[in-house]
Amino acid sequence: MFADADKTAMSSNNLILSKSRLKRGLQCDKSLFFTLYRKDLEPKIDPATQLNFDEGNEVGERARTLYATGLLIDKKPWEREESAQDTNQAIQDGANTIFEASFLAGGLFARIDILTRASKLVGWQVIEVKKSAKLKEDHIEDLALQAIVLAEAGIKVDSFHIMHLNSKCIYPNLSNLFVIKNVTKEVADSLSELRDKIEKLQKVAEIGTEPKVAIGPHCDEPYTCAFHDHCWKEFPQPSVFDLPGVGPVGGWKIIKGSGKTRIQDLDENEFKGKTKIAIEVAKTGKRWVEPRGFQLAIKQWQWPLYFLDFETLAPAIPRYSGCSPYTEIPFQFSCHVWKSPSAKIEHFEYLHLDQTDPRPAVATALAKGFGSTGSVVAYNMSVERGILEDLAAFNSQHTVELMSIASRLVDPLPAFRNHVYDAKFFGSFSIKDVAPALIGEHLNYNQLTISDGMIARAIAEQLMRSLGSNDERARLRQALLEYCRQDTIAMVELTKWMLDISKAA
Ligand code: SF4
Repeated sequence: MFADADKTAMSSNNLILSKSRLKRGLQCDKSLFFTLYRKDLEPKIDPATQLNFDEGNEVGERARTLYATGLLIDKKPWEREESAQDTNQAIQDGANTIFEASFLAGGLFARIDILTRASKLVGWQVIEVKKSAKLKEDHIEDLALQAIVLAEAGIKVDSFHIMHLNSKCIYPNLSNLFVIKNVTKEVADSLSELRDKIEKLQKVAEIGTEPKVAIGPHCDEPYTCAFHDHCWKEFPQPSVFDLPGVGPVGGWKIIKGSGKTRIQDLDENEFKGKTKIAIEVAKTGKRWVEPRGFQLAIKQWQWPLYFLDFETLAPAIPRYSGCSPYTEIPFQFSCHVWKSPSAKIEHFEYLHLDQTDPRPAVATALAKGFGSTGSVVAYNMSVERGILEDLAAFNSQHTVELMSIASRLVDPLPAFRNHVYDAKFFGSFSIKDVAPALIGEHLNYNQLTISDGMIARAIAEQLMRSLGSNDERARLRQALLEYCRQDTIAMVELTKWMLDISKAA
């Protein structure tokens, strides 16, 4: 029965169902089984996930400061029994506010961010702290799971609340950083259905046999499952999910309707637009391109050409003047400059890694590096436009130069989206897919230490906090420069490709 299962999971402590384990089980029985019995399949925590955890902890700690007194149950995540014992003792000793209050009952475990009450004569208020800037449906489920454990433990609760970040809070005034919403009714409404599901999940945990669950839309809803790579390893690559304009819902509709998973097996005549073209490309192996579209796009651009890309931070707790939770702050840019068709390509860049506000230095470096004429090429330029306009509004010293850069932005993305398709795009028009497909594998981001913007953000936060040895910091600083540079090199190469293909128009 436990042929491929980790038998160590059979100790009773390892079968305790905490909120995070239950959440996985609510998405899929098999995900709970893997969580309990196949720890070898658990993906490694990448820097972006770690930043998410760290920010969650930081928000939790900040929320506690709203309470004049409160006792923290300070135990490691796996010390469940000890945490529950300390909580029980704190309640008996008359504590009226407990942070990380923990309860273990009926094989279930709950850790409550803030458990508080006015006096021993009334019931408790349960407060779940969230780092999001709005209330989400999923938060109610989290509290309902806690409510079931508290009921099992015999704790009388009067009300349930979500405390989340307030998008209207503006640094430096953090007095309104949180919004608290009473969701007692919503929690009560979801309890009975959830109780049944938990009973079923407890059986899955106890039986210890891998449940037979086929892959399906549930693998990405409400979250991408942690075991996605494992369960999907036999699925064809590329598949109907790699068609442009289809998406996960459309992909499952195609599979349900036709029973086909491979693009080559589809009948292109049953599809329209880019999806139809992508099926033809997959079948013939020949790239589809409309040179005239590129010729018209590039005709609008003026020499010299600047190729610009930003990387941004988005701190959950604002720390720079005028910022709210998750305001995007540029901390790095790369710019390649091509002054004329015969000129050598030049480059300048800026990377801010100390704890001060990066915006003044970024604005100065931009104002210094850019001339007053020429197009500014930015792939998916709405991002760069927003950053430049915000910087201009923030920095009166360089408003004119920054607005001039913003007004000269041109975007190659629509031309690539509308006038070319290659099988290696895999349904995406992101520069990370388009550049290696059209130019070559040397532009594949997977070979870089940092392969996406979320990881770049996490590494920058790490460096700003001075974490790691000097050698490690130097290595990561170099990796950040390489990552941002890759985006603007890719834009230069794609522009050369556009100029070449335009000649065929
Ligand atoms: S990938 Fe899908 S089938 Fe596999 S465990 Fe996750 S949700 Fe279940």
